[in-house]
Amino acid sequence: MALSLAARVRNLRSSPTLAVTSKANQLKAQGVDVVSFGAGEPDFDTPQHIKDAAVQALQKGLTKYTPTAGIPALKQAIVEKFKKENSLTYDPAQILVSSGAKHSLYNIFQVICDPGDEIIIPAPYWVSYPEMVELCGGFSVFLSTDERAGFKITPAQLRESFTAKTKALVLNSPSNPTGGVYTRAELEAIAALCVQQGIYIISDEIYEKLVYDGQEHVSIAAFNQHVYELTFTVNGLSKAYSMTGWRIGYLGGPKAAVEKMSNLQDHSTSCPNSIAQHAALAAFSGGDAFVQAMRQEYLKRRDYLVERLGAVAGLSPFTPRGAFYVFCNIMKTGLDSMTFAKRLLEEANVALIPGSAFGAEGYVRLSFATSMEQIKKGADRIAQWAGALKK
Ligand SMILES: *Cc1c(COP(=O)(O)O)cnc(C)c1O
Repeated sequence: MALSLAARVRNLRSSPTLAVTSKANQLKAQGVDVVSFGAGEPDFDTPQHIKDAAVQALQKGLTKYTPTAGIPALKQAIVEKFKKENSLTYDPAQILVSSGAKHSLYNIFQVICDPGDEIIIPAPYWVSYPEMVELCGGFSVFLSTDERAGFKITPAQLRESFTAKTKALVLNSPSNPTGGVYTRAELEAIAALCVQQGIYIISDEIYEKLVYDGQEHVSIAAFNQHVYELTFTVNGLSKAYSMTGWRIGYLGGPKAAVEKMSNLQDHSTSCPNSIAQHAALAAFSGGDAFVQAMRQEYLKRRDYLVERLGAVAGLSPFTPRGAFYVFCNIMKTGLDSMTFAKRLLEEANVALIPGSAFGAEGYVRLSFATSMEQIKKGADRIAQWAGALKK
């Protein structure tokens, strides 16, 4: 008889986004020609100068433990990045480098969230937030957003959701999965309410450099000292430098909390990978040419995919202002999102992620972090399949 497992993992699920991707990979392995819109990562190779820095680090023998919170040079580069690009002034002691931004977020929840605490999460949401909240015994309070409002919460809605147990608000702009981007004015209103209520803000800014249509990315912590003291600004190398497998993320935040997170890393993961940290340093010093070129390419793909989906009866894509996903309304097909995704994969060999995974039934997410050729082929298949749908 198996011994029981801890209560805290009873409801823990595998990532539903990874699950669809793996089902698609399984079909591919069987020789099926699958077009996948499932990817949650850039399809570009990591830039050469970053790889070279990693090779050099290896050859120099920089293969040992580093300080848990990151090598001083990398922390300094992050301090300068925050200052220059986000108008945020952090001391190196307020910076923590972790094994991916996901790890940064996990550390935050572990350090701020007690059992029973409420964490406000706008929906649609990135799949890992609620699971991380649950792991520390907290409650996710979902605020559903409207497509017509750009999938963004309103100040009134936020105010109404506050209780004595509210501990933090999670913000993700640009958003995965919707591509919604908050404006400065919208963030100012949200910041004022969070300051008034005295709650933390967890600002996941991993897609900051992937914005379109002249949108400006704004860091909420930069408005004033009050909001600065309540905010964790989370970022990472995965999306901007196409470095998902390298596992480097980082945050800036209140010093006392960052110290505890560093202690937590001491006893859980230790330092992030030493070689990847040196590669990250090269990424920061290498300029923005790579990410800007990638952004231009994403923009072309976005425009094409949105146009193609918009021409399919029953589908209504939301035009993303950032990130690399199209969140598409499928309500008129009469199918729930899981059925839609399953049938599309089985009948037309196109993979995408059901909106239910993000707390948004009636939608599906398509990533355009895949080649234009694949996007064209996939769009053709979707058009044909959806055209033949009989309710
Ligand atoms: C990809 C992603 C992350 C985490 O990326 P890491 O690879 O762990 O750095 C965090 N938040 C969102 C919304 C993401 O899409």
